[in-house]
Amino acid sequence: MEHLEFEKQLRRMERDGVITRKQFLQIMAVAGAFVALGTDKAYAAKSNARGRIVIIGGGAAGISMASRLKRALADPDITIIDPSDKHFYQPGFTLIGGGVYGKDDVWRKQEDCMPKGVKWVKDVVTLVHPTQNKVDTAHNGSIEYDFMVLAPGVKYDWDRIEGITYKTIGQGNAHTIYDWRGAQLTWPAMQEFARKGGRGVFCDTYTKHKCGGAPKKISLLTWDNARKEGTTDRIDMHYYTGSSSLYNVPHFTPRLEEIYRERNIPVDTQCKLRAIDTHAKKAYFDQTIKAEDGTQSVKKIVAEYDFMHFLVPQCAPDFVRESGLSWTEGSLAADGWAMTDQYTLVHKTYSNIICLGDCAGIPTSKTSAAIRKQLPVATANLVSIMEGGAPEVKYNGYAACPIVTEYGKVLMCEFDYDKKEQITFPLSLLDMSREQWVAWLLKVYGLKPIYFELMLRGLY
Ligand SMILES: Cc1cc2nc3c(=O)[nH]c(=O)nc-3n(C[C@H](O)[C@H](O)[C@H](O)COP(=O)(O)OP(=O)(O)OC[C@H]3O[C@@H](n4cnc5c(N)ncnc54)[C@H](O)[C@@H]3O)c2cc1C
Repeated sequence: MEHLEFEKQLRRMERDGVITRKQFLQIMAVAGAFVALGTDKAYAAKSNARGRIVIIGGGAAGISMASRLKRALADPDITIIDPSDKHFYQPGFTLIGGGVYGKDDVWRKQEDCMPKGVKWVKDVVTLVHPTQNKVDTAHNGSIEYDFMVLAPGVKYDWDRIEGITYKTIGQGNAHTIYDWRGAQLTWPAMQEFARKGGRGVFCDTYTKHKCGGAPKKISLLTWDNARKEGTTDRIDMHYYTGSSSLYNVPHFTPRLEEIYRERNIPVDTQCKLRAIDTHAKKAYFDQTIKAEDGTQSVKKIVAEYDFMHFLVPQCAPDFVRESGLSWTEGSLAADGWAMTDQYTLVHKTYSNIICLGDCAGIPTSKTSAAIRKQLPVATANLVSIMEGGAPEVKYNGYAACPIVTEYGKVLMCEFDYDKKEQITFPLSLLDMSREQWVAWLLKVYGLKPIYFELMLRGLY
């Protein structure tokens, strides 16, 4: 299905004079060469360092890290603990919600993703004893380690929104693509809204969350569906963000804000979703208002909707805090994110623990694109520690977020800890401060095979 669709799109672009097939293949060849170059670098030499490595979490970070360690070590002893049967390519949830991917386009069996030679304990970690180098599991007792990789992702904290639960996703037309089933429910609801018109309420959340772009993508795709249906004069859309601005990467923000203005979607900042009344179809927000003299007050907003897309507040899984692995002070403490050195990715207290992925308490965007750049750093530093050396390789905070602005266009935001753009070649040949069709091709057709075939296998 995807291949045919891809062909159709390429033909349309050729016809419209956007790109010739030859140009497209040239770009792909350059990108492929870069992948290959990166791959070679990763396997220059194997280390004879030894030790039992336990990886908590077999998601994007855990599986890719296991694959890399397997290649980096001459005699690897790696155990992954993870309870899941399915491995999801979560960036694809947005495309299910937008009707571009089918429900089964985004997952593979977890057993097929596990690197060969790595032991998989299909279980849940309940506690880590970092001073005794062991983890407790729900059904397999305690497992000892010499080195640990902490990569259990995030927990969705449903208790922080009144009126809706994981089980009732979709009730009262309140949707979230931050769940596989939720993404599937979103697409028909979005289409119906685009056909009929009405009030659309869209929001993110006030905690750090995965892929800050995803809630924006859903709002923009909804608008684009209304454009296709010819109903933009019958829709009234509103975006509520928990942050102080719609987006905070200077290279990309002006164009994104302009798009919301062009489409008449007002943006309210500093808004916390407190509750959804799914029967009355009302969303309740607390908006923090800061006066010029520095005093703060809270304005209550009640937003009536016909179609709503929301995010659940996110935090580290409970065992992280209960094991004493979380930040205890600073902005990352409240939600229990792992106390991680933002450059070396080594735990701040326990030098035999590496933290990466969404659970790591570092000031970057929680994306698999960020993990891709964390992996070589985490691998090199863990191997160095195993060899008795110091962790010397540094992560610059790189993250990427392909913000789908319409069907066929993506604003590809790539940046570092300083919120400075870090545009990957060959995209840097284009003006990436504006949405580009080539980034759409990458998002829809390129990134998923890169994820399953290269990243999870430790090749990218
Ligand atoms: C809707 C949506 C859109 C996104 N869009 C993009 C995008 O466009 N680009 C991008 O780069 N990223 C995107 N992301 C983010 C990306 O998917 C995540 O950053 C990435 O999957 C995080 O990887 P991880 O390994 O840290 O966590 P996960 O991939 O979530 O894996 C965590 C694993 O840990 C396991 N686990 C949890 N608790 C325990 C426990 N107690 N014991 C054992 N195992 C445990 C889980 O079962 C899971 O397998 C998106 C995410 C979502 C939800």
